[in-house]
Amino acid sequence: MSDLPIRPYERQPSAYHPWDPRTADVARNLARLIASARPGTVVEHVGSSAVPGLAGKNVVDLGIEADPDAIPLLVEALVSLGFGRQDSLAPFPPTRPMLTGNVIHDGTSYRVHCHVMPPARGELAELVAFRDALRADPALCDAYAAAKREIVAAVPDGDANLMYTAIKGGFVQDALYRLGIRRGPADPPAPLAPGATIGVMGGGQLGRMLGFAARAMGYRLIALDPDPACPTAAVADEIVVGRYDDVEAARRLAVRSDVVTYELEHVGLEAAMAAGEIAPLRPGLTALRATQDRLAERRFIRSIGEHCAPWREVRGVAEAEAGADALGYPVRLKLPLGGYDGRSQVRVTARGDVAGAVAALGGADGRPLLLEREIEFEAELSVVCARDRTGRTLAFPPSRNVHDAGILAESVAPAPIHPVVANDAIEIADSIARGLDLVGILTVELFQLRGGGLMINELAPRVHNSGHWSIEGAATSQFEQHLRAILGLPLGSAAPHGVTAMVNLLGTGPDRDARLAGMELALTDPGVHVHVYGKRRVFERRKMGHVTVVGRDADEALGRARAAREALSWEA
Ligand code: ADP
Ligand code: MG
Repeated sequence: MSDLPIRPYERQPSAYHPWDPRTADVARNLARLIASARPGTVVEHVGSSAVPGLAGKNVVDLGIEADPDAIPLLVEALVSLGFGRQDSLAPFPPTRPMLTGNVIHDGTSYRVHCHVMPPARGELAELVAFRDALRADPALCDAYAAAKREIVAAVPDGDANLMYTAIKGGFVQDALYRLGIRRGPADPPAPLAPGATIGVMGGGQLGRMLGFAARAMGYRLIALDPDPACPTAAVADEIVVGRYDDVEAARRLAVRSDVVTYELEHVGLEAAMAAGEIAPLRPGLTALRATQDRLAERRFIRSIGEHCAPWREVRGVAEAEAGADALGYPVRLKLPLGGYDGRSQVRVTARGDVAGAVAALGGADGRPLLLEREIEFEAELSVVCARDRTGRTLAFPPSRNVHDAGILAESVAPAPIHPVVANDAIEIADSIARGLDLVGILTVELFQLRGGGLMINELAPRVHNSGHWSIEGAATSQFEQHLRAILGLPLGSAAPHGVTAMVNLLGTGPDRDARLAGMELALTDPGVHVHVYGKRRVFERRKMGHVTVVGRDADEALGRARAAREALSWEA
């Protein structure tokens, strides 16, 4: 016997065992022990070993809900009992830690996973409700057991763990909706058949790629844009000419549409509202309101218990200076409305530069600005996640993104990150999609901190540049997925075909007619795909197209995509 009842964790190859009734005793003893170390702690026995008769890995999973502020002390108490902090490459983030240990009971050693969760996402409540449903309903229990057996049989090797969790997740999610533990959208779309018309507010490259997907499936698409020769014009049945905040033009778009969506979140709220009175608007106004104003976005993120960089709302120079001093330099000062591709934000490294930054953003008149601490991130990630009419969410694997002066330069998906980090990123996106009650695609940009924790950078209730890889790199593209969701159709598989690199093709030089040279050279690699958005004019750093390569690993795919991009240039 060791001194402590809880011994160091023993790694074991994952095997599938019949249910062991003694796991219930182990969980009960541990619950008592933990409550004695930290009075008032409620420990739930969750997972397969909590359900009589359910086969699984016989890991004793414990769930404890704790407020974010209370988590560090709880973790200390668990460590004092002998639980270990996770020793894997990327541990569960400190905001939802998992501690591990082994206990000897009845001569047998049991592995224990102790999950500590903040209440905001409602994870523990769902785990408990699902457990109780399995206990109460033998048919559900049998179906779950059968699904798990199938997964184990299909994936005999070391990848089993990941596949197991992913596929099992699908079964659990469906069950949560069927059982009413999770709810679908308040206003689910009725399915629309091919021939129906999709109205898009915005006629840029995102609208264009939505258009390709719509055409492929037999839907019509019309777009609202001030420029009749916008990138979407080539694939649209019609362009309604008008500004993104033109209420009358938005109405003209909506009367011709069976469903209206947007390809940028900076459409006028009034215009979107006017369109939404005529045809269903998806994702709806809530998603627009919560994401087009960076301050509203921060408040929403806080309200659902997720994390972003420490921030302040500031008005005028004095408040900005005080705020920056409090947050610590460097900081980012951002205009709440209308910024994209790194525009409308200024990096400030010292107090002496605050006044200039406020003035540069037009904040001298006292209008509110967002001030936030600059995060020293390990990497930037994003998750493109779809939610359908039943409420079911399905995320693409996260991508790892590199920005250059605020503009996306390249993405790789699936991101080369620990699966636990990937899973947490997906959970965050899932929780936000549900929090906004949206139908369609939501993109969440994240900072991965050193040590594995995640912080939200930005939300976009739409298809996203960091999801372009999915056109060639996944079973369903983000564009088709968005359409399926807003058309009230079942989502497609988001499984990746390999590791995909996407490199943006930006403009260079002065404003002039756009003529691309080097296509022949770029395509000498037969795995290269070049997308050109058909913009008439090119100028410095304008997004003109992108290059995609599906490869074996991140470095190889990126190398080939970069080489192809180097072969392309804009004629003088
Ligand atoms: P945009 O709407 O222009 O995409 P973002 O807020 O996403 O605005 O900023 C663009 C990029 O600038 C980010 O992807 C990131 O690289 C960098 N950035 C922005 N805010 C921060 C921050 N607080 N800390 C570190 N980097 C930041
Ligand atoms: Mg961004």
